[in-house]
Amino acid sequence: MYIDGQWLQAAGGAEFDVFNPATGEKIGAVPDGSREKAVQAIDAADRAFKEWSVQTAYKRSAILYEAYRIMTERKEHLARVMTEEQGKPLKAARNEVQYGADFLLWFAEEAKRVYGETIPAPRPDQRFMVLHQPVGVVAAITPWNYPVSMITRKVAPALAAGCTVVLKPAEATPLCAIEIFKILEEAGVPKGVVNLVTAFNPEAIGEEFVTNPKVRKITFTGSTEVGKLLARGAADQIKRVSMELGGHAPFIVLPDADPERAAKGAMLVKFLNTGQACISPNRLFVHRSMVDPFVEVMTKRISKMKAGSGFEEGVSIGPLVDTAAIEKVDRQVRDAIDKGAELVSGGRRLTENGLDRGYFYAPTLIKEVTPRMTIYREETFGPVAPVVPYDSEEEVLTMANDTHYGLAAYIYTQDISRAMRVLEGLRFGIVGINDINPTAAAAPFGGMKESGLGREGGREGIAEYLETKLAGFSI
Ligand code: NAD
Repeated sequence: MYIDGQWLQAAGGAEFDVFNPATGEKIGAVPDGSREKAVQAIDAADRAFKEWSVQTAYKRSAILYEAYRIMTERKEHLARVMTEEQGKPLKAARNEVQYGADFLLWFAEEAKRVYGETIPAPRPDQRFMVLHQPVGVVAAITPWNYPVSMITRKVAPALAAGCTVVLKPAEATPLCAIEIFKILEEAGVPKGVVNLVTAFNPEAIGEEFVTNPKVRKITFTGSTEVGKLLARGAADQIKRVSMELGGHAPFIVLPDADPERAAKGAMLVKFLNTGQACISPNRLFVHRSMVDPFVEVMTKRISKMKAGSGFEEGVSIGPLVDTAAIEKVDRQVRDAIDKGAELVSGGRRLTENGLDRGYFYAPTLIKEVTPRMTIYREETFGPVAPVVPYDSEEEVLTMANDTHYGLAAYIYTQDISRAMRVLEGLRFGIVGINDINPTAAAAPFGGMKESGLGREGGREGIAEYLETKLAGFSI
């Protein structure tokens, strides 16, 4: 753990093990931090806030630039740590490290653009001025599926704004978090400004984050269930919250789309990170007239996918995170088949050629999926593509919006008017139009409805860590 500029063990040397999900092998052990360590880290962040918050934006920016430089230089090393710890193919891990570094660069720049405002006042002797100031100590909790970028997407804007941070990473991927904190230390982040608490039991740390009055903001990426728990807790002290939660993305193929291009896009985004992405399509709405060509292209492409260790050449399907994830995915597939869906390919755990040591599930395609099936409502977080046929634009819009989630959605069409109509009707925070990766450090990322609150990245990203203060002068 990294607290107040020191690398520390847990009390009594308590540790928990970290495993490679592709092989089940132990790859390391990290300190199992207790609630007391969270208190210690919050105290350090609170002490450091006084000086950090009044540094010039130029100074904070220079440190973030340096962190960006080191992270880019260390890309290959970080990617390898990620592939070993999280399982994604090495190429995807390299992409994620770059995406993670992009937030350091973007917010190094944004740090210098926290502008205030003057406002015309109603009285002739009055002047109004608006200032933006850092919210204070930020407690951050991150997931395992994007173990590098989900950290920099929070830490970079917080530091740019002048906040100090205590981070608790996911228990499955603490090694990536440790690597990032080494970079922040080397880049010259002063002691106490960033603190890392690793813990196997997230509840005790979360409790401390929400109840400790020194923490003024909770930023969380993870499941909607845990997000609600933290937001409820934070409400007691009216702490600021940013919530990046689960999704259930519709992928809409309109009748004029090219089914082959749409199927290729669906393949890339559905099986990205083995389906363990919050923006992963969970319902592929394909116009009834194109279901056959769409399914044919997908089936052909799925048959060429190779599952295995992310270090192996040609592997595009990595492991799921654990046995529970395999069981959840399989339960959703069985439920759909029991209720009348047709299994086109996959639909089983992979155990051949040593894959039984890890958590592999075959890339799966099912068709004739209906709203009665669990997969139509519940986030899958696995490599299953459920095709849902539809007949009209109005019908598909109603079906797409029929979910309590509202993170990402995708539209495939060649008709600009249609694209605009569907885009405006969708209740989702991120919409890709013939585009399967509508994300970048420069663009606001976040969800509507139960997918979240607030935005990360973009101009909005830094605003989440700033308070607005109004000054009224009488002259
Ligand atoms: P999770 O909610 O189980 O865990 C996320 C983090 O919360 C982990 O660090 C975990 O240790 C911690 N946590 C769990 N219970 C807690 C508690 N009671 N108190 C405090 N902390 C607690 O989610 P996960 O399985 O790690 O991640 C998958 C979920 O994250 C999916 O729902 C996915 O859609 C979502 N996600 C969302 C985004 C986004 O930007 N919207 C990005 C990535 C993942």
